[in-house]
Amino acid sequence: MLVSKGVEEQWDYLLAGGGLQNTLIALAVLHHRPSARLLLLERDEVLCGNHTWSFHQSDVPLEIWPWLSPAISVQWQGYDVQFPGLERRVQSGYGSLSSRDLAAHTQEIITQSPHARIVTGAEITALADGQVRLADGRRFWGAHVIDGRGPATPPAGFRGGFQKFVGLELTLSSSGLRTTPLLMDATVPQEDGFRFFYVLPLAPDRVLIEDTCFSGNGALDITQGRAEVLAYAERNGYAVDSVTRCESGVLPMPYEMPRAWPRTMPLAVGYRGGFFHPATGYSFPVALRVAAHIAQYAPESPLNADWERLLNHHRNQYHFATILNRLLFTAYAPSERHYIFSRFYQLPEPRIERFYRMDSRLSDKARFFTGWPPRGFSLRGLLKGAATL
Ligand SMILES: Cc1cc2nc3c(=O)[nH]c(=O)nc-3n(C[C@H](O)[C@H](O)[C@H](O)COP(=O)(O)OP(=O)(O)OC[C@H]3O[C@@H](n4cnc5c(N)ncnc54)[C@H](O)[C@@H]3O)c2cc1C
Repeated sequence: MLVSKGVEEQWDYLLAGGGLQNTLIALAVLHHRPSARLLLLERDEVLCGNHTWSFHQSDVPLEIWPWLSPAISVQWQGYDVQFPGLERRVQSGYGSLSSRDLAAHTQEIITQSPHARIVTGAEITALADGQVRLADGRRFWGAHVIDGRGPATPPAGFRGGFQKFVGLELTLSSSGLRTTPLLMDATVPQEDGFRFFYVLPLAPDRVLIEDTCFSGNGALDITQGRAEVLAYAERNGYAVDSVTRCESGVLPMPYEMPRAWPRTMPLAVGYRGGFFHPATGYSFPVALRVAAHIAQYAPESPLNADWERLLNHHRNQYHFATILNRLLFTAYAPSERHYIFSRFYQLPEPRIERFYRMDSRLSDKARFFTGWPPRGFSLRGLLKGAATL
């Protein structure tokens, strides 16, 4: 294949969108094939946007650590959760990548690779099998076109709830109060749905605090969210020197499966391809699986029997999560939803880990539905919700 430096170029991999999924694919492919002709196209001036991507260490298969670990910003040996009447230290390791660190590492790896390149400021306007076109008229050809342009506009008639966040990264004037993440502090007023604060001690003088809500509506008031985070920080004794960064988002928590799963080129991956956890909003575990698969089959087509197995597994897990979403949002009043999560956090750790990495077994799924439902359950709400579907 010819690589020309002109306006029209030919590549092995054309990665459309430089967010979480496609940077992981780039790292995985270049780890296994450093000489791959790979082009990463991103419309913004920098890769990876403005996120903190967290994950459970058990999400990461052994063979992935060598190419992932240099991009990880921080890791912890366990985390805490707090609910009314329940405090627990979960021993599972936890970690985070900041957009800045993932972008810098991807940039470094691509710069070192002889036939890989990043083009930023590249607004993609058309994408087809084997071809990508930019707003400025440039065209690129590639054997594998991978569409990782993030969430498409939700389809009309979307049914589901929403996970809403406003997070502030704070610089502290004295050392932070905790060294272990607090994944859910749900001991706060349960307004607008299941509400909790998420606290990540990033460094002795830096903390990320997010106000999160699993709500029936997607309206997010960022100004109010910022004020809530600062008030939480003050109430909990953090000496805030300055706000370094703000991140926010609204993630859909669907009740239904996507109409179709990606089986053709250009291959939709990441959020756009339905590769996220509908009940937690975490993309990381399944994004790793997709990246590892694509790298494993380089340079042949990734659309093979193993891709079908990956899709089947993901579809089953996704389906289970949509049932849980329906249960959460229809059978529980907003102020009672936290009872589901405090029950969840009484499960053994391996079950919790499998749930987050979308690997629940039949026995794990059965466990959710055996015994008395968590407090707050309304059969009437569930039936009413089912009738509107
Ligand atoms: C506040 C917040 C916190 C989150 N926390 C976590 C977490 O802790 N762990 C976790 O696993 N998940 C988390 N998520 C979810 C996760 O961020 C997303 O699911 C994930 O980023 C999806 O990856 P992606 O690559 O599909 O999309 P993105 O990361 O959104 O990347 C898409 C990229 O494509 C680019 N793009 C879009 N359109 C075009 C175009 N036309 N031309 C060129 N480029 C284009 C965008 O600029 C972007 O860079 C969080 C989400 C939010 C909003």
